[in-house]
Amino acid sequence: MIAKVAVDMRAKPVDRLYDYIIPDHVSVEVGSCVEIPFGQRVITGYVLALIDEDGSSGDSHPLRPIVRALTAEASSLHPEMMGVMAFLKDRYLCTWGAALQTVLPPMTRAKASARYVLSEHADEGQLDAALFSYIKRYKGITKKTLIDKFGITKRQLDMWVAQDVLQLDIRHTARLGKKRISSHEHAVTREEQLESALPLSIAQEEAYQQLSVALHEGKMRTFVLHGVTGSGKTEVYLQAIECALQAGHTALMLVPEIALTAQMTTRFRRRFGQRIAVLHSRLSDRERYEEWNRIVRKEADVVVGARSAIFAPLSHVGLIIIDEEHEQTYKQESDPRYVVREVAEWRAKYHRAVVVLGSATPSLETMYRVERERYTLLTLPDRIGARPLAEVQVVDMRAEFRKGLHSLFSEPLKLSLEQVLEREEQAILFLNRRGYTTILLCRDCGAAATCPDCDLSLTLHKVQGASVLRCHFCGHMEPLPTHCVNCGSTRIRQFGAGTQKVEQALVEQFSGVRVIRMDVDTTGTKGAHERMLGEFERGEADVLLGTQMIAKGLDFGRVTLVGVVAADTSLHIPDFRAAERTFQLLVQVAGRAGRHDLPGKVVIQTFSPDHYAIMAAQKHDYAQFFVTEMAARKAMQYPPYTEITQFLIAHDTEQVALQTAQTLHEALLSELSLQKDVRIFAAVPASVPRLRGVYRYQITVLYPSFMRVKEGLSRAYQTVLGSATFHATIVVDVNAQMLF
Ligand code: ADP
Ligand code: ZN
Ligand code: ZN
Repeated sequence: MIAKVAVDMRAKPVDRLYDYIIPDHVSVEVGSCVEIPFGQRVITGYVLALIDEDGSSGDSHPLRPIVRALTAEASSLHPEMMGVMAFLKDRYLCTWGAALQTVLPPMTRAKASARYVLSEHADEGQLDAALFSYIKRYKGITKKTLIDKFGITKRQLDMWVAQDVLQLDIRHTARLGKKRISSHEHAVTREEQLESALPLSIAQEEAYQQLSVALHEGKMRTFVLHGVTGSGKTEVYLQAIECALQAGHTALMLVPEIALTAQMTTRFRRRFGQRIAVLHSRLSDRERYEEWNRIVRKEADVVVGARSAIFAPLSHVGLIIIDEEHEQTYKQESDPRYVVREVAEWRAKYHRAVVVLGSATPSLETMYRVERERYTLLTLPDRIGARPLAEVQVVDMRAEFRKGLHSLFSEPLKLSLEQVLEREEQAILFLNRRGYTTILLCRDCGAAATCPDCDLSLTLHKVQGASVLRCHFCGHMEPLPTHCVNCGSTRIRQFGAGTQKVEQALVEQFSGVRVIRMDVDTTGTKGAHERMLGEFERGEADVLLGTQMIAKGLDFGRVTLVGVVAADTSLHIPDFRAAERTFQLLVQVAGRAGRHDLPGKVVIQTFSPDHYAIMAAQKHDYAQFFVTEMAARKAMQYPPYTEITQFLIAHDTEQVALQTAQTLHEALLSELSLQKDVRIFAAVPASVPRLRGVYRYQITVLYPSFMRVKEGLSRAYQTVLGSATFHATIVVDVNAQMLF
C-alpha cells in the first residue's frame, strides 16, 4: 500500500499530496499523523488516502517510507475534517497545505515546545556524551535547549532525526510541564449551582418550537433568527442547545470577536458548567491544545468560540449557531479565504444538523436566501420587557455649517451631552477614525500628504504634544511638513477629525469631563481593553470615545446617550457594500443606548441625512433598508444576485504585476467569456494601488453560480500560477466580501 500524504509546512504550503511507502512495522489509517522524510528533513504530514501500489502518481524517483505514525487519537484527523479540507480546496481554490493548516489539531502547531527523545537504538557514540545523558536524564530536550545550550545546528538535528537517533515526540509535549489551571476550572460550577432556563416570551417560544422540531427531525436546516439587540436571541440559543444536548448531540456557538467570547462564555458556563469548551486565537498553544482534547475526549460538548472554532472536532453535531452573522470577521482574510457560514453549512450537511444565523441586521445574502425559501425566518420583533429602542435623532451637519457652526459637536449633540453629564449618566461617542486629523491638503494645489510606500494619505497623530504623520497600513512616520511637496506652498490645511481631536475637543468644551479613548493607539498593551471597559463600567469616566471596537456587544446600564460623530466615514468607502455596512454599524452602535432602566437617546451627525441607510437606521427599519438596497443591487447585478471572485496580483515591480494581471485576465476570458452572465472586469489597480512598496492589481469576476465557473476560474488561476515566467503573487478570493 501507498499513503497519499498532505505535508504540514507552515512556511510554504504546497499544493500536492506526496506518496510514501508504508513499512510493515508502521500501521496507518486515513487521517493518521505521520513522520516522513522530506528532502533532507523529517517533517509531519497527514495520510489523506491509502491506495494500491500501482495507483501512485508515478513520481520518477523511488518512493520513500514513512518513518513512523503517531497513534494518539488527538493527533489524527477525523474523516469529517478530510471532507472539510476537500471542501476548502474546492470552494476557495486553496492549496492542500493551506487546507490542512486550517483543520489541524493544535498540538502540531506547538512544535516549538515539542521535545526530542532518544530513539530505541540511539547510543552514546552517535551523540555527544553530555548531550546523551542530558536527554536521558530529562527524558527529552526541546529544540531551543539543543540549539542554545548545546550549540547544535538545525541541520545536525534533522540528520539525527533522519538517522533515527532522536525522535520528535509531540504527544509527550502536552503532558509535560506544570498543569495549567485553565479558565474552565476557575469557573467550576457545580451541577446544583447551574442557572436554569428562563420562561420564554411568546415570540421566543415560537422560535424555539420550530428549532426544537428541526433538531429532532435529523435533517439539515438553516434558520435565520432576526431580532433586535435585547430581544432575547441568546436565551433562545441557550435553550436550543439544551434541546440538542438532550437529543444526544453536541453544539457549536460562534461569536464574531474574541472580546465577545468572554461575555458569551460566562453566560454559557452559568447554564452548562464544565461542558463548555472555548476556542479562539488568543489562547496559548497549550490552552488550545487542552480545550481541543476535552472536545475530542467528549468531556466538552458545547463549544463557544470565534471564527476558527468552526473547525472544532465535535462529533454528532446537532446545532451550529452563528451570532451576529452579518459581521465581516466571519470571513477569513488569508488563505483559505473561507466564509464561516459556508463551512457551517457543510458540516451541518455532514451531521444533518441545524444552523441558526442570528442578527439584528442580517446580511443581504442571508435574507435573500430567506426570500428564496432556502432558509427559514424566525423573528423576535421586540425587546424583552417591552423596553423601547432608543430614539434616534439625525443631525444635518451641512445645516450646522451654513449656520457658521464648525464645532465637531452639533448643537443637539452638545445639548444631549450636557444633560448626560448633569444627570451623572454616561455617553458613548463613536468615530471610526483614529489619529488627530485624517488628511493634510495643500490649499493651493490640492495635493494630499501620502505615504511614500503606500498610495494612502497620511494621518496626523499627536505624540506627546508633537505632531507626526503616520501611515496606518505600514507604520511609516514623518514629521509634519511645512511646505507642500508638490508646489512648495505653505498653506497646508488639516481635514477630517480623528478620535484624538475629538478627545481634545471634549476636554476643552465640557469642563471636568472624564473621557476614556479606545482605539488601536490606546489599547496596544495587554489587558488595556479590559481595564478601560472596567473603568467605564465602574463609572470612573463619563464618556467612552472610540472606533469600531466599541460598536459591538457592550452593555452598560448607565449609558443613556450614543453619539455618532461622523456617520459618513463608512458611507464613502469604495465598496458596493458601503451602505449595508453603514446601516449595520449605525444600528449596532444605536443598540448601546438605553439597555436597562434608563431610556436612551442616539444622535447621528452626518452630511448625508437623506441617504436611505441613515434614514432606515434612524427608524430601526430593517425591512425598508433591505428593500431599497436590494433594488440597487439588482440593478447593478451585484451580490446577492451574483457572487464575486477577486484576484489580487502583487509585485515589487509595477510592470511585472501589470503583465501578470493581464495574462490572468486573458486566461479568464478564454476560459469563461462564452458563459452566459459572467462578467470579467479588466485588470485595474487595486483600491490601494501600492502597499509597502508593492504594486497591486485586481481582477473582478461576477457570476450567477459558482458551480458553473469553478472549473474555468481554477484552470485560469492554476495556469498563470504555474507558469514560470511570472513571479507575481496571486491571491484568489472566492466570494469576496471586501474589495482589495
Ligand atoms: P439578545 O441576545 O437578543 O441581545 P438576550 O438574550 O441577551 O438578547 O436578552 C436580553 C436580556 O433579556 C438579557 O438580560 C436576558 O437575560 C433577558 N431575557 C431574555 N429572555 C428572557 C425571558 N424570556 N424572560 C426574562 N428575561 C429574559
Ligand atoms: Zn501644493
Ligand atoms: Zn505606508
